[in-house]
Amino acid sequence: MEKIFVFGHKSPDTDSICSSIVMADLQRKTGEEDVIPCRLGEMNEETKYVLKHFQVEAPMLLEKVEEGQTVIMVDHNEFTQTVDGIENAKIITVVDHHRINNFKTAEPLFYYAQPVGCTATLLLELYTLNHVEIEPKMAGLMLSAIISDTLLLKSPTTTEKDKKAVEQLAKIANIDINTYGLEMLKAGTDLDKYTEEELIRLDAKKIEKEDVKYVIAQVNTVSIPDVLKRKAKIEQEINKEILSKGLSLFVFVITDIINSNSEAIVLGDRTDAISKTYEIKDNIAVMPGVVSRKKQILPLVENNI
Ligand code: MG
Ligand code: MG
Ligand code: MG
Repeated sequence: MEKIFVFGHKSPDTDSICSSIVMADLQRKTGEEDVIPCRLGEMNEETKYVLKHFQVEAPMLLEKVEEGQTVIMVDHNEFTQTVDGIENAKIITVVDHHRINNFKTAEPLFYYAQPVGCTATLLLELYTLNHVEIEPKMAGLMLSAIISDTLLLKSPTTTEKDKKAVEQLAKIANIDINTYGLEMLKAGTDLDKYTEEELIRLDAKKIEKEDVKYVIAQVNTVSIPDVLKRKAKIEQEINKEILSKGLSLFVFVITDIINSNSEAIVLGDRTDAISKTYEIKDNIAVMPGVVSRKKQILPLVENNI
């Protein structure tokens, strides 16, 4: 039987890792045998906490895919955010909750997308559509992904479907979402473990619009001032990245998960894409009430670049 790789985006977050594992489980239970969950990079502390909590093994690290390799993409579609070699792979399925961009296939495929808060919410629907029973571990992973992507249902990306999914999954996994959710999110705010170089890559999305290349990176914290103590070194690393990757803009978003606010370090030739909306002082834009890259930052940059 042919091997199928399932993976989320580079700089994997909890949704990308958990949805890869869960999608592989669903595929196996609907008749595909050789489905292998993969990750396209190191896991963050939040995701490690989740896998440890539910005693689930980490997915296999995948560096690139060979020509003709059958793959399933979850939690992303843009080729700038995916595995090397994707142009010559055979994409049979995508399950995602992002805009569609930089994506094409040679053959027809199953493409399941909805504007919900998390990929795992869509996977729950697929279990239901396929009449597959959900194991508590899988429910726990889906629940964690939704808590992560929606910041405990507080992000403006949260939909009714996500809320219902959390309720249903919490019962199956037998988890108190508020206690577990906060512990899990806090595990992801332990940023002292990372060097500045690692920090700016931890959750970085690379985007290309015509000839303009830019990055929006995001980290979660319980104290923005704590992260900003490292501002000088972070800026140094960002400037290196701008030079080596030919970027026009780098937005490093620091999100306070308790108060649902962000501040961003903004560098590059095209900081105007941000400064049209948020005043930039000492390379910092204060963004009250902003927590979602997808819904609150990306559209603003795309409209102005
Ligand atoms: Mg993601
Ligand atoms: Mg996601
Ligand atoms: Mg995210």
